[in-house]
Amino acid sequence: MQRETIEQVAHWMAESASTITLTGAGISTESGIPDFRSPNGVWATSTPVYFQDYLASEAARIEYWRQKSQAHADFAAAQPNRCHQILANWESCGHLGGVITQNIDGLHQIAGSRNVRELHGTARDVACLNCDWRDQADRFVADFLQTHQVPNCPDCGGLIKHATISFGQNLSATTLQESAQWAANCDLFLAMGTSLVVSPASELPVIAHDHGARLIILNREDTPLDALADLVLRGELGATLAMIDSALQRLRSAAPHRGNSQYTAPGQE
Ligand code: NAD
Repeated sequence: MQRETIEQVAHWMAESASTITLTGAGISTESGIPDFRSPNGVWATSTPVYFQDYLASEAARIEYWRQKSQAHADFAAAQPNRCHQILANWESCGHLGGVITQNIDGLHQIAGSRNVRELHGTARDVACLNCDWRDQADRFVADFLQTHQVPNCPDCGGLIKHATISFGQNLSATTLQESAQWAANCDLFLAMGTSLVVSPASELPVIAHDHGARLIILNREDTPLDALADLVLRGELGATLAMIDSALQRLRSAAPHRGNSQYTAPGQE
């Protein structure tokens, strides 16, 4: 990757008053969690259970819990990688206002990111579909693996499932609205590790661009929004982010007074 390109991204970040990032499965592959489209990814290994089927059929619920219990072992053991760490560090240094993620692995928060919006929910929790009950998933997954019985809500007896958005299930309107606001209000939008083919997440870079933000796309392969971007960085995310981080640190040490004193975090506009 050309040094000038990396320096350009670092310059734009240093002069940005509000940077937002959208992350996808590609940011977690270095943590050992496959993305959807790799040979051993979710598409290749199982047929997802649709939300309507989960509501309608006990057999579908058992299949859902079987798949989720298998996947849980990968998530539970995974640790944040250098990409998650760099984003968390950028947030604490004032270079990043927030992370909008399509991931359900919770690794941004474990790395220390605080301003995170999870468009597709989290696989770390289970929640009731009928009342407000919610708890960590570990115990329920362990119980299912022993009994093969689908658990019910301890409070109301209703159906519970992982706190992720299943196929056919609506996204949280609040999360989506906040994410769209972040995109509309930022001046620099970094889309990384995402194929940008899953809507509505793929609409967020367009919102940012249409509101005048610079758009940078960092991904291993082409995306449908590359033509819209001010800059496309093709390559492995970990190495790319590490180079940008170093360039940013060089800029900071060369001109420490240029920090992000004018920085506006989401919600402070
Ligand atoms: P995706 O699988 O569609 O695309 C991921 C993209 O990242 C691909 O274009 C791939 O080429 C790229 N990529 C993978 N590893 C990379 C690396 N090391 N460096 C650079 N690029 C890399 O993922 P998506 O767009 O996030 O898709 C959507 C769905 O996948 C979401 O609904 C998400 O919830 C779900 N998902 C999440 C996880 C997770 O939480 N970790 C894992 C698998 C799938």
